[in-house]
Amino acid sequence: MKSKEGILKCRFQWFFTYDNNFNKFPNNFKSVLSSLPVYYLSLFKAPCKVIDTIEKFLRKFLWMGCKDRKGIHWVSWEIVTRPKRLGGLGISKLSEVNSALLVKWVWRFKTDYDGLWRRTILSIHGGRNKWVFLPVKKAIPGVWKALVSGIASIRFDGKSIDKMLSCQLGNGKRISFWKDSWFGSTSLSVRWPVLFSLDRDKNCTVSDRLKQSGGLTLITDNWYLGATTVEGISETQDLFFMLSNVRMNGSQDRWVWDNNSGNGFSVAIVKDALRKNVYGLPDQRMRWVNWVPIKINILVWRIEKEMIPTCVELVKRGVNLSNTRCALCGVDEETVTHTFVACGFVFGVWNFIWRWCHLAPAHYNLIEDLLSWHELANVSAKGKKILRGIIMVACWVIWLERNKAIFQKSDPKVAEVVASIKSMAFFVAEV
Ligand SMILES: [Zn+2]
Repeated sequence: MKSKEGILKCRFQWFFTYDNNFNKFPNNFKSVLSSLPVYYLSLFKAPCKVIDTIEKFLRKFLWMGCKDRKGIHWVSWEIVTRPKRLGGLGISKLSEVNSALLVKWVWRFKTDYDGLWRRTILSIHGGRNKWVFLPVKKAIPGVWKALVSGIASIRFDGKSIDKMLSCQLGNGKRISFWKDSWFGSTSLSVRWPVLFSLDRDKNCTVSDRLKQSGGLTLITDNWYLGATTVEGISETQDLFFMLSNVRMNGSQDRWVWDNNSGNGFSVAIVKDALRKNVYGLPDQRMRWVNWVPIKINILVWRIEKEMIPTCVELVKRGVNLSNTRCALCGVDEETVTHTFVACGFVFGVWNFIWRWCHLAPAHYNLIEDLLSWHELANVSAKGKKILRGIIMVACWVIWLERNKAIFQKSDPKVAEVVASIKSMAFFVAEV
């Protein structure tokens, strides 16, 4: 019988039947993620060890493909799994996917009011016990109990899920008077615990407890009369004072995810909420261009982080190289900045490109200046986007030419590189 690792490896190999390298990889990487056992992740909180094991495979396959060898992980997993707007590749962390899929069940439970599955859960786990946010009987093991327990540990910037879901009161027929957060930021069972303990029907709805009459809001029945302690009387006064301003209407009650965001509910939005304040403010300049192939976007993403295998970067990571000079000009050490900005050969290429774009020759010394140079050009917003794409394509062709010079001992020519950039830019733009 195959081990878990063996099964995962087979799954990944199925996706990468050709010789892998990083440039082909990203196109299929998300397919690999979606091939993971989502069914299990959507029902069970995966143990940290399982998440670590799977992510270890993902990390390895991202940088080395299926080859069973050691290699350099050029960008940390922490950065790779950031959203693109925060400098990452937008690959989800499995722990976040797992949590978001579990949260989806909560959303379904609250919104699929008449669903048979919901009524089944209620008949098994509901009853008169003191469940608050989700019904669960600890004595009944199974998928639902495990799911509720997994959900209880999820935090959104320190907040539990019951603080992220709130209700907008309509006719009050689908909202639990005590257990749902329909008034203020917490449930009434937490706000007025003495009164909650007095009410015999803890699963009553808002419409069971409140009635509108002649513009006034009335509390039904006399369940609160048993409050004779100081706390109980104080809570009763608060309840009458606060709920007298509540107004119900004829529309159906609505559930809202993260009241402040106004984005509705989806697994992607939940994942975003899980990441809030984890990664801090965006601090990167990478601008993804959708008309340029993903492999070129990713090369530029790596160039921007100075995380590509130039000779100097390889030596920094312990690779023993006898010659670290630039293969294009043969003059200086091959750093990332030299390869794309300072190299005499590349300087000639850029001059041709600027002339081709009817722009004055540019002067910059840093990678970030090259990659943001289009923003200074006196052209329209669309023109800037095209210019940005041309710079990205040029970086790609320069990198290929550098690889040819090293591995195939070719003799690089500025005119040929410029011709390749022009034809590739046209081809890509048309596609
Ligand atoms: Zn050079």
